[in-house]
Amino acid sequence: MTETVLKNSTDTIVAVATAAGRAGVGVIRVSGTEDLQPIVNALLGREQQLTPRQAHYGCFIDAEGYTIDQGLLLYFPSPNSFTGENVLEIQGHGGPLVLDMLVNRCVELGARLARPGEFSERAFLNNKLDLVQAEAIADLIDAASARAVRSANRSLQGEFSKQIHQLVERMIGLRVYIEAAIDFPEEEIDFLADDRMRSDLSCLAEELQQIKMSAEQGALLRDGITVVLAGKPNAGKSSLLNALAKQDRAIVTPIAGTTRDVLRERITLDGVPLNIVDTAGLRATQDSVEQQGVLRAWREIETADVILLVVDASDSPSMELETLWPEYLQRFPNDRHKIMVLFNKIDLCEMAKPAAEATGNYIALSAKTGVGIDSLRTELLKTVGFQEFSEDVFCARRRHIDAVAKASVSVNSGIDQLMASNAGELLAEDLRQAQQYLGEITGEVTPDDLLGHIFSSFCIGK
Ligand code: GDP
Repeated sequence: MTETVLKNSTDTIVAVATAAGRAGVGVIRVSGTEDLQPIVNALLGREQQLTPRQAHYGCFIDAEGYTIDQGLLLYFPSPNSFTGENVLEIQGHGGPLVLDMLVNRCVELGARLARPGEFSERAFLNNKLDLVQAEAIADLIDAASARAVRSANRSLQGEFSKQIHQLVERMIGLRVYIEAAIDFPEEEIDFLADDRMRSDLSCLAEELQQIKMSAEQGALLRDGITVVLAGKPNAGKSSLLNALAKQDRAIVTPIAGTTRDVLRERITLDGVPLNIVDTAGLRATQDSVEQQGVLRAWREIETADVILLVVDASDSPSMELETLWPEYLQRFPNDRHKIMVLFNKIDLCEMAKPAAEATGNYIALSAKTGVGIDSLRTELLKTVGFQEFSEDVFCARRRHIDAVAKASVSVNSGIDQLMASNAGELLAEDLRQAQQYLGEITGEVTPDDLLGHIFSSFCIGK
């Protein structure tokens, strides 16, 4: 199990901050509240006071005086550092063994190996970052598209947190007003008669809704969607995977049953990462390997965000899902919005069907000629709710969306209480709840075990 409780420790920690592997430069980060001067002196083999934030060149030596590496030392005294503690950055050469030896030297000199995410955790505990910003660093590093980079930066620069704080401030203002009315009934504030209260509350509900929508777009950019290609053998699933990926990834043959295992390909559409999964053709078969493939295909279908049901148009009697797939239909997920039916091979049946057309969840196309593939791309993004020109997107996670959704439910319940019974106490309680949910996003009221969970999912050195 991962670490679940924040240690709140301040001892000196060390880790390689750059990626594993060979590189020109590798950076090691040391952080702690203790004086880091003894580590500096021992590494350099002589006394040297480092000027804050200035690069110092030197040889780094081991316990016996042999040179491990040469490079730069940078010192960031507390509180002006990433973690808020004293931080030493050792920039050496990026060889795995060299960096390992340097880290071990720091450990010999009293530092401890950092846990995953421990640098960010300390930055959070020392109020250098809030939780959204700490998560945004991880998201920026993992970003799969330029849009994801921009949205992670918006969160990192505090845009998302600022909007959450503004909403919290407004909730506090309303609570103060309501509680004053409860405590001083002789003032006789009548909530129902008070238009300001009602309009403030509905503005609040509206803004929560908008933040939730922005956050959902951000989550799409961050997590992407899983798109499963399903259909009978030879319908053209592998050809479509290749057409979408714009390269030959899957084997295409006229022999039915070629795709026996699940094949995954990651592409980006307008900045949205898509995990495309090609599956074995769905049919009854005696071949035990193919049977396994079909089983796996069903498993993928059950968990997909979108299912592209590929039908050979040159061989299909109807465009109706019910007529096409009576035997399988009940096994498909209930949410029909998730299913897009692709009539492939329209190049073979030009007489029977018009050229590429996209009507709702039905698209006619040809993986061979490429006709209709652009419509497929556009419709796919529409199906998952991605809005093309939304620039005010935050890099959001599921937990942010859930928290905003819960806050939204609380505010709406408060509005209902007010309308139904003019119940000030209940409204105040609903607003308190909503405020608490929003506080979980930025980390102000997040339980320790959740914090521990979040930081331990970061990698070492972050
Ligand atoms: P899968 O079994 O569903 O993955 O189907 P494949 O992608 O392997 O394709 C089966 C056969 O249909 C191959 O011979 C493909 O070249 C052919 N095919 C796939 N898409 C099209 C298309 O749009 N038009 C035509 N004419 N042939 C296609």
